[in-house]
Amino acid sequence: MKINHQKEIKLWIILVAILLSVTSAFSQPLWETMKNEKDVLKLSVWFRAQDVDQYLANKDGLNSAISWCKKYGITKVYLEAYGRGLYANRETLLNSKERFLNEGFEVASGATTEYGPDEFDIFHCYTHKRHQEELQRISEYAASLFDEVILDDWYFTNCECADCIHARGDQSWSKYYTDLMLKMSEERVLKPARAVNPNVKMIIKYPQWNDEYHTRGYDVVRESKVFDGIWVGTEGRQFDYEKSEGYEIGYNAYFNMRWLANFGSIGGAWFDTGRARTKIPTYLEQARHTILGEGDEVILWCYGGHLEATPKIEALSEELPGLIKLANLVQGKPIKGVQLLKPGNSDSFEETWVCSFLGELGIPFVPVSDVDEEAMAVVFPVQSLKDPGFIRKFQHVADRGTPILVTDGLAKRMTANPAYLNNVNVKTLPVKGSPKALLNMTREEIKTYRDHLLAPFGMKFDAPARVELYLFGENMFVVENINDEAVDVTLELPKVSTVNKALILPESGSSAEVSLSGKTVKMTISAHTLVAVGVK
Ligand SMILES: [Zn+2]
Repeated sequence: MKINHQKEIKLWIILVAILLSVTSAFSQPLWETMKNEKDVLKLSVWFRAQDVDQYLANKDGLNSAISWCKKYGITKVYLEAYGRGLYANRETLLNSKERFLNEGFEVASGATTEYGPDEFDIFHCYTHKRHQEELQRISEYAASLFDEVILDDWYFTNCECADCIHARGDQSWSKYYTDLMLKMSEERVLKPARAVNPNVKMIIKYPQWNDEYHTRGYDVVRESKVFDGIWVGTEGRQFDYEKSEGYEIGYNAYFNMRWLANFGSIGGAWFDTGRARTKIPTYLEQARHTILGEGDEVILWCYGGHLEATPKIEALSEELPGLIKLANLVQGKPIKGVQLLKPGNSDSFEETWVCSFLGELGIPFVPVSDVDEEAMAVVFPVQSLKDPGFIRKFQHVADRGTPILVTDGLAKRMTANPAYLNNVNVKTLPVKGSPKALLNMTREEIKTYRDHLLAPFGMKFDAPARVELYLFGENMFVVENINDEAVDVTLELPKVSTVNKALILPESGSSAEVSLSGKTVKMTISAHTLVAVGVK
């Protein structure tokens, strides 16, 4: 009898446990979905050191952070050990780490090597031993507590103090900074971090401003090799023609993802709320461009910031099922198209951010860092000059009859080799020192250059600027309209019998009419809308 009674109690306990877990699953359906889909798309959030101390130091704050994450489908958290002059409290870090792990989250850490608020120019001096030692202390602190640490993109230097000027000698700032930061990475970040924790994975996060990396010390060629992984900034902003930097336009996120993949293993991407400078459609486009770039993890920066941006996180939650579908469509498929060359650490002269604006001309690009002489079509911007063998390689590509587009900034630096430029396959794009002015080209002007480049693919695309085209594998393309109004576009394909809309984002409140006329796909796409189309 006694045994049976015990069995009964056990049965009840099991039943109650099942009931509780089912209730909790139903109360957090998005979290359950995202846990199941974590290999396809993972949503994470970054707690700044200040967030850790402010929100995670007491039980209520911690409970509320856990509920918030579960509500919005966030399954991984980054607890920043150091940031903006603050070492997050050790006990709070350890306690919240344990709590998040027990709740079923993945937990990692990070460090933002900004040594004080608003001390941008004074504190980033890696020539000074004091700052080198502080960098080491930060790395050791984070690595002593966590097995995965991302170095946020404040890990750059633009110091021009007397000591830096003296130490630089007659080298360029790029050469001085990249050599110095590589040395810092090896001696003050990686070696000490691995000494305190042999299992630690140290990741370098590159900002979204790819044309200026080397001028502030980021060396994507060498640093990507010494770190255990790389992370990519995919922040976008409302593009204000007068005020915005070129890296803030939508396509930059995609370009950054695909281009950086040439240098190392990408763990994921990172974007923020953008506060007033990013409206909801652009906020969501950050996620779409990241996934088109084959990103499978997104870190939201940051918890404190997102608490004040509820409409944005709500909008992202609503789009998550669609983003998972997009990720499933894109992942593992080779991208096809026109190669766009930008070697690592290349100077952009007067064509800074040209690659991001070129992508807004509806040319399907494959961003590369080396000249591929087998390319079907290629765009060479002025950055190409970084390759010491560029002129010879250019000639090889031109001699094969490959359609080539060079920017005028490159053409004018090749005046010693005019025969190459006079080749019938070579067209020159007039950037005129203002890459953003490419956005003002008419659709007829754009079409001339686009048709030239797409000829080997048997394709023609007709669309205004800010309508992007992506080719995935042999039978899918994506068109994304980042304009504030609807557009009518056509894509002529070499061979097609049927087309089907695989996905429209956003899934509600948008529209994309897709029809086939002969070999031409006609599309009417609403503002800020992405459509993925399957082709047979
Ligand atoms: Zn200095």
